[in-house]
Amino acid sequence: MMRAGRPAVLMKLDWNELGTPRADRADGEWVEISGFATTLLPATKSAYFHLTAEPGCCPGCVPANPLAVIEVFAKRPIDLPLGSLRLRGRLAVCDDELGWRYQLKGAERKGWTRRRLLRATPLIALPMPALAQPMDGLAVDMHSHAGNVIDASFGRGSFSPVAEPMRQGSVSAICLAIVADALIIQRMDGRLRPIRSPAFGEVYRYSQVAFAKLHALAGEQRMPLLRTAADLRGAHSSVPSIIVASEGADFLEGKIERLAEAYQRWALRHLQLTHFTPNALGDIQTEPAVNGGLTAFGAEVVRQCNQMGIVVDVAHGTYELVKKVAAATRKPLVLSHTSLTEQPRAWTRLITPDHAKAVASTGGVIGIWPNLEFFSNYKAFADGFARMVDVVGIDHVGLGTDQLGIFAGSTMPSYANLSQLVAALGARYTPEETAKLLGGNYRRVFEASLS
Ligand SMILES: [Zn+2]
Ligand SMILES: [Zn+2]
Repeated sequence: MMRAGRPAVLMKLDWNELGTPRADRADGEWVEISGFATTLLPATKSAYFHLTAEPGCCPGCVPANPLAVIEVFAKRPIDLPLGSLRLRGRLAVCDDELGWRYQLKGAERKGWTRRRLLRATPLIALPMPALAQPMDGLAVDMHSHAGNVIDASFGRGSFSPVAEPMRQGSVSAICLAIVADALIIQRMDGRLRPIRSPAFGEVYRYSQVAFAKLHALAGEQRMPLLRTAADLRGAHSSVPSIIVASEGADFLEGKIERLAEAYQRWALRHLQLTHFTPNALGDIQTEPAVNGGLTAFGAEVVRQCNQMGIVVDVAHGTYELVKKVAAATRKPLVLSHTSLTEQPRAWTRLITPDHAKAVASTGGVIGIWPNLEFFSNYKAFADGFARMVDVVGIDHVGLGTDQLGIFAGSTMPSYANLSQLVAALGARYTPEETAKLLGGNYRRVFEASLS
């Protein structure tokens, strides 16, 4: 039987007891143990890591033996020291499809141990069964409307689950986007188009309602909003998190001071400059170009985003816009949801190799989109990643699901299915390369943009 609270006396567990009947009888009990933290990607803070008996000083030194490692799920991100740390948490003895192993759940740090403080120890990836979970809980979706956040902004329907499918699929964070021009776009001619010009203040007022709904969703599902580079470094799927995003900067309505307001009031950290309405910032792929790419105001927004620490997303922008933003930005760009095409059709949302290279030239990332119109299954979706990787390289491609935002439907409708994409990518790429594609590359851009 599982106990609800933490008992006054904890069972002290020693590494040489793992695998013995005493440790196995402690399944579900609160225990205390010391060891060394190892994360898949370098991190100074994490809610998910592996605890080992000995420090991992080189990849060969890390034990593949499950008796020498405990998978740790912390209550909240824990500062990871260079030396050993003492943890308490509930022990779980697992034996499932991932293999036999120990876990420590709801773990908390017990303070520094005085012995065995070491000098800098490189943190490394572990080729071991406990890491067979997709991405080790670090995947990031660069573009999403999960949780029914668009309809809820219009008062239609209630929120749908986000945090739980993210935990199931090992997704640590999503860029959850309001749709700035949602009030004034409608499906016409096979695509979304603006149906009228908004009155001044209309789009701004709508954005305040939409951001508030997004915050309400985060609160309901107990999902933290990521505000700093360190927040994302510590983010893990055990506590799924949100990066507040806007698809379209239309709510600025030409007023640059509203960017700082959105940064502070709504924790906006990821801004897509344009959407389906030609706005004050620049030209879009789905309407005739009128601004020669980027406007002076658009360039000012890019500079302010760089300075404040907001990721700049050029999805939906024309190639001319992307080239001009690439010239104006001091930080890497994101183009969060698209796919590669050699022969673009009129009003396509896909991008050519040159368009992709303009994003990659900033050190940026292009998100591949699980659009059923182009990818009927996970293998085809992984092929879409590979085509983009062939053009821009493994460091410049990521995942942008546009969840609940794709008319044709999604190849990956739930985060709980991420393991199927991991498997499809795993047929082509090493675990390290797959980790870059499904989160590592976006993490790099987010870190650069916020520091
Ligand atoms: Zn879009
Ligand atoms: Zn979208």
